Amino acid sequence: GAAIELENLTKRYPGSPQPAVDNVSLEITAGETVVFVGPSGCGKSTTLKMINRLIEPTGGRIRVGGEDVTDMDPVKLRRRIGYAIQSAGLFPHMTVAQNIALVPRMLGWPKSRIRSRVEELLDLVGLDPGEFRGRYPRRLSGGQQQRVGVARALAADPPVLLMDEPFGAVDPITREHLQDELIRLQQELRKTIVFVTHDFDEAIKLGDRIAVLRERSHIAQFDTPEAILTN
Ligand code: ADP
Ligand code: ADP
Repeated sequence: GAAIELENLTKRYPGSPQPAVDNVSLEITAGETVVFVGPSGCGKSTTLKMINRLIEPTGGRIRVGGEDVTDMDPVKLRRRIGYAIQSAGLFPHMTVAQNIALVPRMLGWPKSRIRSRVEELLDLVGLDPGEFRGRYPRRLSGGQQQRVGVARALAADPPVLLMDEPFGAVDPITREHLQDELIRLQQELRKTIVFVTHDFDEAIKLGDRIAVLRERSHIAQFDTPEAILTN
């Protein structure tokens, strides 16, 4: 069934003449990677933030795993959705391990389980746990910060991963590495991923399906990369 359903989703920010997201409907299947690609300002971030309930829609519905996000218990929401953003959004006063442990701690996992999960996640994203667990974000490269951001989003093993331009702030070579690793991770983990970018090549590379967005998140096309490239 559908892992994520958007139904007539609309967001109008107070004081804005135009809605940022206007009447968007879309279904995302469990286990697929859907990339939202579109120009800056077309409403991609706003859509992801509504799915993660960081902001409230002005209209329409969002279901994740068949359940309305609006009524979902916050703990359940955190278990279900991982969120990774541009520049990783790491807390500077926390070590790598503490950053990754954020959601598991919120969920009340025992310390020993959190500790072993952090080690496992650092391995998964290609960072040596001994070298990195105790470091502060300012002592990491941009690419290393992004890896930690992805590890944090994966910490409680959520079925759904929302990624908002997660590789937007790193150099092109590092970005390619991170893209390749995400593809490898995805083959291993089979998450439902919604990935936002303004980079069409990135969309083609990562998406099982691609939603090409115009202004106010109007969906111009929603199809496989092959179909989009031949149209
Ligand atoms: P994208 O992620 O595609 O760059 P956004 O979702 O960030 O687009 O923004 C969509 C539109 O909503 C833009 O016109 C932007 O200026 C506006 N917008 C975003 N956040 C706010 C806000 N907090 N208040 C008012 N307008 C906003
Ligand atoms: P705030 O709204 O004050 O930033 P949040 O609790 O929403 O507080 O988010 C705290 C941090 O956790 C943020 O850096 C954000 O990137 C991250 N985060 C938010 N939602 C999720 C989620 N569902 N899963 C994992 N991390 C999240």
